[in-house]
Amino acid sequence: MNFDIARKRMVESQIISRGIKDRRLIEAMLKVPRHVFVEEAMAAQAYSDTPLPIGEKQTISQPYMVALMTELLQLSGSDKVLEIGTGSGYQAAILATLADRVYTVERIRPLALKARKALDSIGLLNVNIKISDGTVGWEEEAPFDAIIVTAGAPDIPEKLVDQLKPGGRLVIPVGSQFEQILVRVIKQEDGSFVRDDIAGCRFVKLVGRYGWGTEE
Ligand code: SAH
Repeated sequence: MNFDIARKRMVESQIISRGIKDRRLIEAMLKVPRHVFVEEAMAAQAYSDTPLPIGEKQTISQPYMVALMTELLQLSGSDKVLEIGTGSGYQAAILATLADRVYTVERIRPLALKARKALDSIGLLNVNIKISDGTVGWEEEAPFDAIIVTAGAPDIPEKLVDQLKPGGRLVIPVGSQFEQILVRVIKQEDGSFVRDDIAGCRFVKLVGRYGWGTEE
């Protein structure tokens, strides 16, 4: 399997053809080796148009969903970004390629450790990973230019909105445990918010203090 060819095809048929326009993002998706972020046995499927299991009942998101959410963050290169739900580390790798610094939080230790290894193996040094409940954000590092939540939330956690800079963007799936709407919130200079509902989506659940309980 030639991964470079598979990746180029993925970007053409799943990303550009569906309307993603941000040139820097397209370059990042051409560059970051997605197969490094899945189990070796699944490497051949890494560039298919679907989410994939990564262990611990979690998934790496579909490539198009990664692109759509990232484009909505409007990264310029100098941004400080927070991600909740490190999972495989692939989304963090895309963010790290487009932003200055990435802070990412994962509640499941083995996933965080695997993600660390994958990010190190491709030389991305601007990603900090914390093993914790990300629904409270990352207070010590706030405020952020952009915050992305890659698990489905019952509501928008207030702490995350608090940790946005004026002009900052938050992208988060909000809804039930089975389906959500991808929502973008932009904090205005005067502290008010503009909310846009973007598209339907399906994510694993955000589990934590301001998310779902573990038993539900
Ligand atoms: N961005 C990931 C997709 C991860 S799936 C990728 O690129 O692969 C969602 C992840 O969110 C899971 O790994 C899950 O364990 C994690 N998660 C769920 N609730 C969380 C919480 N409160 N804090 C941190 N991580 C959480």
